[in-house]
Amino acid sequence: MQFISNYHTHTALCGHATGMSADYIKVAIQKGLQEIGMSDHGPIPRSFMTAQEYVNNWLERQMDYQMFKEVYLPDVNQAIRDYSSLIKIRKGLEIEYIKGHDEYYELLLQDVDYLLLGVHYFHTPNGLYNTYEPMDKTRALDYASTIEAALATGFFKVLVHPDLFLASYLSDKGKYEFDEVALQVTKRIIASAIKNNVALEINAGGIRKQSVYKEGCLDFLYPRYDFWNVVKDFKDVCIVIGSDAHQPQEIADFSSEMAIDFANQFGLKISQNLTF
Ligand SMILES: [Zn+2]
Ligand SMILES: [Zn+2]
Repeated sequence: MQFISNYHTHTALCGHATGMSADYIKVAIQKGLQEIGMSDHGPIPRSFMTAQEYVNNWLERQMDYQMFKEVYLPDVNQAIRDYSSLIKIRKGLEIEYIKGHDEYYELLLQDVDYLLLGVHYFHTPNGLYNTYEPMDKTRALDYASTIEAALATGFFKVLVHPDLFLASYLSDKGKYEFDEVALQVTKRIIASAIKNNVALEINAGGIRKQSVYKEGCLDFLYPRYDFWNVVKDFKDVCIVIGSDAHQPQEIADFSSEMAIDFANQFGLKISQNLTF
């Protein structure tokens, strides 16, 4: 499969990536992509959460709203002026969903073409919970509920790394197991994606991080074998591969190639052109 698009691309503004839009776009052109979406971590106002939630959820790792308006948008717009004869460039953000602030997402969508939903923290009855913290059954079900609420809004085009919860999930035995609850969460995510016409992403960024051995199969912390082995039985779900590039050279790199191999082991069909 020749890559012709990538919609998951960061910039130095998030504080844990290098390069600005033009640096990524130049690599995308070199690699023959026809379309690239810039999707740095989007701003969540501090006022949307308590001080403790703010500390728990690494919010310093993203631009604020002023930086979004004054640096990020001008940077992408300049790249569009400079390179749009060579590649189609879309403006986007990867962002969390915080309930009760739908007007804020509408405001963001006035400036960008699309939003990726990245659930790095989610709603629980006790407040927001970090997805990287150990997660029991109740928390895993909260993760599913947050995704269902988010996708139902219609604000999001892709749910990125939908299987991230499995990197933190512990069954009643205190270890990772793809048990009944994990299966239930997986099926709820798939159903919500199909119902709301949102794509699910196989995230190449996870492939760069850590692999997990499973009986000779390709398996990673994410994308996780157990999750996509369920997805394969749902033919209506739209699946994309996202580079999740945090360095320019990570656009359509070896990990995206491995993501194709990963998808092929289940016979998954990959979509390459999102419609806007
Ligand atoms: Zn990131
Ligand atoms: Zn990302």
